[in-house]
Amino acid sequence: MTTRHPETTGRQLGRRSWAEPWKIKMVEPLRITTPEERERALAQAGYNTFLLRSEDVYIDLLTDSGTSAMSDRQWAGMMLGDEAYAGSRNFYALEEAVREYYGYRHVLPTHQGRGAEHLISQVAIKPGQYVPGNMYFTTTREHQERAGGTFVDVIIDEAHDPASEHPFKGNIDLAKLADLIARAGADQIAYVSLAGTVNMAGGQPVAMANVRAVRELCDQHGIKVFLDATRMVENAFFIAEREPGYEGRPVAEILREFCSYTDGAWMSAKKDSLVNIGGWLALNDETLFEEASNLVIVFEGLHTYGGLAGRDMQALAIGIAESVSDDHIRSRIGQIRYLGDLLDGAGIPFVKPVGGHAIFLDARRFYPHLEQDQFPAQTLAAELYLDSGIRSMERGIVSAGRNPKTGDHNRPKLELTRLTIPRRVYTQAHMDIVAEAVEAVYASRESAKGLVMTFEPRYLRFFQARFDRL
Ligand SMILES: *Cc1c(COP(=O)(O)O)cnc(C)c1O
Repeated sequence: MTTRHPETTGRQLGRRSWAEPWKIKMVEPLRITTPEERERALAQAGYNTFLLRSEDVYIDLLTDSGTSAMSDRQWAGMMLGDEAYAGSRNFYALEEAVREYYGYRHVLPTHQGRGAEHLISQVAIKPGQYVPGNMYFTTTREHQERAGGTFVDVIIDEAHDPASEHPFKGNIDLAKLADLIARAGADQIAYVSLAGTVNMAGGQPVAMANVRAVRELCDQHGIKVFLDATRMVENAFFIAEREPGYEGRPVAEILREFCSYTDGAWMSAKKDSLVNIGGWLALNDETLFEEASNLVIVFEGLHTYGGLAGRDMQALAIGIAESVSDDHIRSRIGQIRYLGDLLDGAGIPFVKPVGGHAIFLDARRFYPHLEQDQFPAQTLAAELYLDSGIRSMERGIVSAGRNPKTGDHNRPKLELTRLTIPRRVYTQAHMDIVAEAVEAVYASRESAKGLVMTFEPRYLRFFQARFDRL
């Protein structure tokens, strides 16, 4: 796929526009609700956007997870489903795609990312061990803690500062990692949990130089490095754009090289890989792979389907190849930047630089009059829905949960509301509407009152918590 853009083919007329490298073949109508309908729907949902019915939503920016539009080739692949219980040919297509594009030796399908997180945590963490990582992710940390591990954040300080323009805010701070190894002892480190890009930091990338250095440090101590590859293609795009020596290199090449510095990866294929469901765990180590492929049968399904239909594995294999196309990834991230530019022009506070999958609005700067205990980011998500039926989600104190030892809220520095852009789903006109709605909510920011939590689930509370107006 080497289609050339007007920008590169046009005569020297200055900068030319780019457009999506696809056209629309099938459409799904959107419903626009009235303010009264939204007021009622949100109250019924306990002011949690996760509890809204999607039919009450106009533009759905809750998540980029499983919300992508599949291509005609992927849909054709669905018709080639080989629904054999064992040894489906679609499994071998998936295995081949992961080996070719990510470069790992052994592959296990899982129903989605957290299935793979569960397996890697169970086989690679001994109770009492530490799991250093570049900022926590909700489901990742949950599985690490359930396996008896303790997550330790070793990301660079800039990642916690929404205004820092550091080009690789996802980087691991090598001094923090070395310090943990020295304090705890290498045998008390289960593995390094490296994510590219870093979701909770605003979709921020990790540099190739950083993963190389992490690899070197870990080699000195015999520590393994496992990668959360969920948005690693987006990470590779940023490397091609920003890192000396990688400018303009194909994203597929960068992806392979980055993965080569790690010992395995888990994947939520619902993100980068352009499918609605699926995931995988890949490992180079024979012994760990044997344990994981034994365990996958207990929790997911036989090692050649892992909770997926054959047709899903086929769509995923095709999606992997499409996801590393340079044209695709450029328009994917270009759309988010387009929205970022509009918001920036209107003076809206959000995490800079714009990351790979979303705009993260800085709720602290929207609502400086609200305490973090009054849930500013949750409030912003509610206000945005009421204004225009746009659904976003909280990434702040609610998502951060409680400290399992003290029972107190974890209080993250970042109090963000995420506008997550599904892949190949919305048009530029939808982005205009979103920007206008955010501007309207920002203009009336002083009247926001905050929320109180009325129901709190024990695990991953942000999904099901309920709130009321203060
Ligand atoms: C979504 C996500 C996961 C979990 O994957 P699921 O498919 O939702 O289970 C893990 N890590 C990151 C960075 C994610 O964004």
